[in-house]
Amino acid sequence: MTAGQIAKNTNQERKSVKKMLYNLLGTGKVEKLDEKVWKLAGSGKEVLESGNRVFAENLTDKPESGLSFLRHFDLVKELGEGGYGWVSQVKHKLDGKFYAMKIVDYDQEAECEVKALADCNHPNIVRYSTAWTEVFDLNTLGNRSTSEQSYSQTNSEEESSASASIGDLSLESESESEPKSRGTNSREGGSCLFIQMEFCEKGTLSNWLIDRNFGKSQKTREDALQVFQQVICGVEYIHSKGLIHRDLKPDNILFTNDNCVKIGDFGLVTSVTNRNGGLMKRTKGKGTPSYMSPEQDQNQRDYDEKADIFPLGLICFELLWKISTGYERGKIWPDLRNQVFPTEFSKAYSSENKLISKMLSKTPQKRPAAAEIARYIKTFLLSETSVCNQKTV
Ligand code: ATP
Ligand code: MG
Repeated sequence: MTAGQIAKNTNQERKSVKKMLYNLLGTGKVEKLDEKVWKLAGSGKEVLESGNRVFAENLTDKPESGLSFLRHFDLVKELGEGGYGWVSQVKHKLDGKFYAMKIVDYDQEAECEVKALADCNHPNIVRYSTAWTEVFDLNTLGNRSTSEQSYSQTNSEEESSASASIGDLSLESESESEPKSRGTNSREGGSCLFIQMEFCEKGTLSNWLIDRNFGKSQKTREDALQVFQQVICGVEYIHSKGLIHRDLKPDNILFTNDNCVKIGDFGLVTSVTNRNGGLMKRTKGKGTPSYMSPEQDQNQRDYDEKADIFPLGLICFELLWKISTGYERGKIWPDLRNQVFPTEFSKAYSSENKLISKMLSKTPQKRPAAAEIARYIKTFLLSETSVCNQKTV
């Protein structure tokens, strides 16, 4: 049944029914079959009565339940509001440290993000601190952002650039992106999953590209390759864990103050194989179209970790080659996805051209593995310096 149908049958508001259903998740009384459909253990009425009780008990026992996040953290600045939820810079009231807090609707898919992050321990992956669930209404944050002092203003140019977007240089747009929403209960005060992680002060690779493309900062070929090498190290580690990231793009690659590269946004992560060792059947149509591998784009369902190599080829190109206008990008990008490079690029970067071309192979098996790419960059392209995790951005 949908929340709407249950609401109708039990004479309640849909919004409160949704709250109850999310409160009962994990009790065995309700099961979420897909985005909208719920399976109830008894009749809708019984379930909702028990849901109301649980909700009321929660409120009586813990008068501040739903506010544990705000009891322990001060909001500093909103960092991003993506398809899945909301990310903010926060300051822990006790330890005084800054963290990034991601708040998403709580469901089984959201748990995958936490489990994958918790499983990863690598200098080029965003470090996970902890996660918990609570009933929360994201709208309260909207109000706070304008009215509360704790939501302090950006205090440096660096911070404001961290929240910039790639703007008209990007082929990416809300309409182009696969809608990634797993529901909107967080906006209505439903169960939310809070993911506390390391705060990457220097913003995203999108910001890095904007700064470079608009001439604010000079970057050399070596700078670009050093960044790429760190990305590859992170991806090699993800693949070594039997995981596929599935949404590698500049917005999901971050920098810390000491210029270490961190891969973030594990919202679409999935494992390569099922328990019997066969290829997993993937959920169709996920990812970000302009960076997505052809097999992911065409909704094929048995792709593997090589689906991550294709976007890395595009990212490597972008790191090396300045694209100054949206028009230029619109011309270059479709060709690039077909392994056709600007002539000037091929002349200036012949070795990189060969490598990127392989990474962009239509046939996933022809793409090199992350470990091979890392080795190649280290041995041939950055031979004069030692590489992994070097801080030269
Ligand atoms: P999208 O729809 O772009 O994929 P999302 O909802 O999946 O977004 P994330 O990509 O995890 O969420 O985060 C959204 C944005 O928040 C990022 O693009 C980045 O700007 C910022 N952000 C996320 N995590 C961090 C972090 N650890 N430190 C600093 N900024 C972060
Ligand atoms: Mg993202």
